[in-house]
Amino acid sequence: MFTLNRGIISAVLVHSDHDELMEMEKYVSRLIEFLGDDPNRPGLRETPRRFMNALLELTRGLREPPPKVKFFPMEGNEYVVRISINDIRFISLCEHHMLPVIGTVTVVYEPLNSEVPGLSKVARYVKWLAARPMLQERFTARLANELKEVLHARYVYVKVCALHMCAMIRGVKDEDMYMVTEAWSDGISNEELRDLRNSTHCRVPRIVLTKEY
Ligand SMILES: [Zn+2]
Repeated sequence: MFTLNRGIISAVLVHSDHDELMEMEKYVSRLIEFLGDDPNRPGLRETPRRFMNALLELTRGLREPPPKVKFFPMEGNEYVVRISINDIRFISLCEHHMLPVIGTVTVVYEPLNSEVPGLSKVARYVKWLAARPMLQERFTARLANELKEVLHARYVYVKVCALHMCAMIRGVKDEDMYMVTEAWSDGISNEELRDLRNSTHCRVPRIVLTKEY
């Protein structure tokens, strides 16, 4: 069992897990050896520990509870029809290769009640859900369905743009390819959906330098 350190890197383990973590580090060491390098040379000696810490950070969503969402009341006749939160950055791991997926999420929703959630909470939820091995298709669908409940929304529409390292650096080796997925919860009319699909964009993260040095 893992214990968590309030949203910081969740590599903090209770004592009973310490042995298991040591065991995992031994596996990483053996993997390095299997690949043909010497895990005991100075540059690699601490790598199994660092590798495990990085992996624990990238999958912290598996062990941390979902972030709590605080709501602020609207006053008088204040009324918001539609809220759009654009280009929330996330980092994940593809579940087929355990290689990084880097992308952005745009969330559009219509509040059901006269209350609004704190802005950062939507971003926190996106980053929490991303912090595990994922399929972009499932990630997008889960966001739309779960955020509808979390945000007390009439509907939620989600668009995700992501770069998949497994396609960029190996296999097809296409560094310009990116994936766009959309999903929406129930409660959305056909007209609203058509409008959202045409008007909502998410930005592909820029991580590739095309400049010459
Ligand atoms: Zn992959």
